[in-house]
Amino acid sequence: MIDVNEFKQDVQRFLKIDYAVNLDIAKTYQKYNAISKAVMIRIIDNWNKTCEVYSKNKQSHYFSAEFLMGRALGNNLMNLGIYEDIKKALDDMNIDINDVEEIEEDAGIGNGGLGRLAACSMDSAATKNLPVTGYGIRYSYGLFKQSFKDGFQVESADNWLKYGDPWSIRCDEDIVTVDFSDYSVKAVPYDTPIIGYGTKNINKLRLFKAEPINEFDFNAFNNQKYKKSVEEKNNADNISRVLYPNDSTDTGKILRLRQQYFFTCAALKDIIKKFKKYHGSDFKLFSKYNAIQLNDTHPVSAIPEFIRILTNEEGIDFEDAWNVTVNTFSYTNHTIMREALEEWDTKLYKNLLPEVYSIIKKIDSRLIKKLQSAQYGYDKINSMRIIYNGKIKMAYLAIYGSHNTNGVAEIHTSILKNRELKDWNELYSKRFLNITNGIAPRRWIVLCNRELSSFITELLKSDSWITNLPLLKNLEKYADDEQVLNRFLNIKRIKKVQLSQYIKIHENIDINPDSIFDIQAKRLHEYKRQLLNAFAILDLYYRIKENPEINIVPRTFIFGAKAAPGYVRAKAIIKYINEIAKLINNDSSINGKIKVVFIQNYGVSYGEKLFPAADISEQISTAGKEASGTGNMKLMLNGSPTIGTYDGANVEIAQEAGMENNFIFGARFEELEKIKKSYDSKEYYNTVPGLKRVVNTLIDGTFDDDDTGIFEDLYNSLLESTKTDKADNYFVLKDFEDYRNTQCRVNKAYKDRMSWARKCWINIANSGKFSSDRSIKEYADEIWHIHPHKW
Ligand SMILES: *Cc1c(COP(=O)(O)O)cnc(C)c1O
Repeated sequence: MIDVNEFKQDVQRFLKIDYAVNLDIAKTYQKYNAISKAVMIRIIDNWNKTCEVYSKNKQSHYFSAEFLMGRALGNNLMNLGIYEDIKKALDDMNIDINDVEEIEEDAGIGNGGLGRLAACSMDSAATKNLPVTGYGIRYSYGLFKQSFKDGFQVESADNWLKYGDPWSIRCDEDIVTVDFSDYSVKAVPYDTPIIGYGTKNINKLRLFKAEPINEFDFNAFNNQKYKKSVEEKNNADNISRVLYPNDSTDTGKILRLRQQYFFTCAALKDIIKKFKKYHGSDFKLFSKYNAIQLNDTHPVSAIPEFIRILTNEEGIDFEDAWNVTVNTFSYTNHTIMREALEEWDTKLYKNLLPEVYSIIKKIDSRLIKKLQSAQYGYDKINSMRIIYNGKIKMAYLAIYGSHNTNGVAEIHTSILKNRELKDWNELYSKRFLNITNGIAPRRWIVLCNRELSSFITELLKSDSWITNLPLLKNLEKYADDEQVLNRFLNIKRIKKVQLSQYIKIHENIDINPDSIFDIQAKRLHEYKRQLLNAFAILDLYYRIKENPEINIVPRTFIFGAKAAPGYVRAKAIIKYINEIAKLINNDSSINGKIKVVFIQNYGVSYGEKLFPAADISEQISTAGKEASGTGNMKLMLNGSPTIGTYDGANVEIAQEAGMENNFIFGARFEELEKIKKSYDSKEYYNTVPGLKRVVNTLIDGTFDDDDTGIFEDLYNSLLESTKTDKADNYFVLKDFEDYRNTQCRVNKAYKDRMSWARKCWINIANSGKFSSDRSIKEYADEIWHIHPHKW
C-alpha cells in the first residue's frame, strides 16, 4: 500500500528542505512536520480527484464557526490504513511515533461539543463518501490554553500554528473579497484534507483567513506614520485572530459580527463560483446542486447575504431568490438556553452591513404578511418577528429562511417543538426534525483505545464494525462470558494505568489505578453542574472523616473543563473544586480513599486519554438543559456506565443500553417545568442532611477565594433570588440527595466486578446508534438529499 523506503526518503528530504537538518539532529516538531508532509504528498492526487467527482453532483456545505479537530497525524494514518507501516518505518529511523504524535498541537479552533460535532461530521462524511465540504474561519489562535495558578484558571494564547500547519494548503487562486461598510478584506482559503476511513475519497475543510487588500501603506510609512501604515493589516488580522472575541463592548460585538459575515460571505462566493463553473448561471438550479447546513446561528447571515447576491448582483427577483434560499439552507439548533439564542442589535448590524440589513427587513416584512394572511394576531406576530424591539433574532431568521430545522437529541427536539419554538412548529411542522448527535468511532475508540478495538475485532472476527457501529450489538452474546469480561477489565486497567502516567507527567499528581475513575470532562457551565459533583465529593469526604470505617471503593474524581474567560461563576467553580482537591488530597487521615484531580487544558487530545480510562461517566446537567451531549457517547463507547440525569442523549443511551446498566437520577424536565415558579432552594438547604454543611463551605472560611468574593457569589446564587435569576436556577440543591444516593449505588454496584463489567459491556454493545456515520447519513438522506460518490 505504501512504499516504506520512499516514505523514509521523503521524510529526510523534507527535513532538509524545510529545516536544513539531518535526521540525527532534527527536533521532534521538525520530524512531525516532515512526516506529515510525506503523508500529504501521497494523498494529493486522490484529493483532487474527489473534488472533481463531487463537483458534478449535488454537494453539501457545512458552515460552522467552530471545528474542534484535535490532532491530525494519528487519525490520518489510521484512516489511511498505514498506521502500522509508518510506525515500523519510523522505528527503523529511530523515531518513536508516540513522541511525534504528542508534539502535534491540537487544532483547537472550537469551544466544545458544537465544534467537535462539526469535526466528527466531517470524518463521517468522508468515510461514507458523501460530498460534504466544511467552511469556517482559520483562527490564528485556538480557544485558549488553560493552566491553574493557586487554583484559579489562567488563560494564555493558544498559538497552534507556531510551527506551521503541514495539513493545510493555501489557495491563493480562490481568494475572494469581503466588503463591510467601512473597509474590505481578502478571504484567503486554507484547505485541509479530511481523510475518510477505508476509502480513497478525501473531503475538504476550507477555512478562511482574513488578510488586508493592501499589506502595507508605503506612503504612510514614509511619512513616519508607522501605526497607520499597518492599520489595514491589523484590522484584517483581527477578524481571524481568535474564536469568540470578548463581546462585552460594542467593539467586541462588531468584531464578532464581522467574523460571522466574513466566512459566510466568502464561502457563498466560493460556492457560487463553482456552481457557475460546473452548472451555468441558472440559479433556479442552485438547490439542485447545493445544500448548505448552518451549524447553529453563527453562520445565519448567510441567508440574507445569499439573497443579496442573487437579487443585487445576479438580477434575480426577490421571490425567486427567496425560494432558492429556502430550498438550499437548513439549520441545526444546539441550545434551548434562552440567553444563548443569538440576537443582534439592529443599529450595529445596519451600520456594518447596510445592504444585508435591508434584505433582513424585506424578509421580516414577508414574514409579517404571511402571518397576517394566516390570521395571526398582533401580539403573536410580534413575538415571531425577525426584527423586533431593536433586535434581529437569528434563530427565527434561520427557521424562516430554510427548509429544515433540527434538534440534536429526541428530548431536545421535542422541547423545541413543544415549547421554545412552539409557534414556529405550528406554522411549519414539516420543517422540524430530530437528528441525534453522533461521534466518530475512528477517533473515539479505534485511535484512542487500540486495546479495546483489537479485542472487539477479535471477537467479531471482522473490523467492519468500525464503519458500521451497530454491529457492536453482536458483542451482547458475551455479556455473561467471564473470560471476555475479565479481558475487558484488564484492558480498562491498562487504560487507567496509562492515564495515571499521563496525569503524573502533566499534573504531577499520583493517582491510584485501582480506584474508581469517576470522570466529568466538558466545558464548565452552571447547567452542567460540576458544582453538584463537587458538593457530593465534599459531603463524602466529611462522611469519611466522621466514619473512617465507611465501606467505599477508593475513588478518584477527575475533572476537565475550561471556563469562558468572562464567565466569573464558572471560574469560581473551578477555584472551588481546586480548593476541595487541596483539602482532600492533603489529608492523609483518609488513607487515599478519595482523591480529586482537576486536569488542566482539557481538549480533544486530553479527552482521548480520559474517556478510555473512565469507570463512570458524569452527565449530570439540569434536565432539559443539555441539548444532546456527545461526551456521554464517547464514554459509553469506551465502556463506562453513565451516572446522569434524564437529559439530552442520556435518555437515548439509557433506552439503548437499559436503565439497569446506567445510573439515572434527578428531577425530570416536566417536573422542573411544573415546580420552577414555586421552587424554594432553602427548603432543601435546611432539610437535606449534610447539604447545609457543604454549601456553607462557600462562606464559612473553610476555603479561600483570595478575597475575591466569588465563593460568596456562588453561595448567593444558590440561595438568593435576584431580579433576573431565581435562587438555584439549575436545581443543584434539589437534585443533591438523589445524586448522593445514586453515587452510593454506583459504589455498591462496582464491588461486584462481574456484574459491573457486564454493565460496561452492554453499554458498548448498544452504542451503535451514537456513531456520527448514522447521524451524517440522516442529514444526507433527510435534509441535504445527497448521495455517496465513489470512484
Ligand atoms: C466531546 C467533547 C466535548 C463535548 O462534551 P459534552 O460532555 O458533550 O459537553 C467538549 N470538548 C471536547 C474537547 C470534546 O471532545
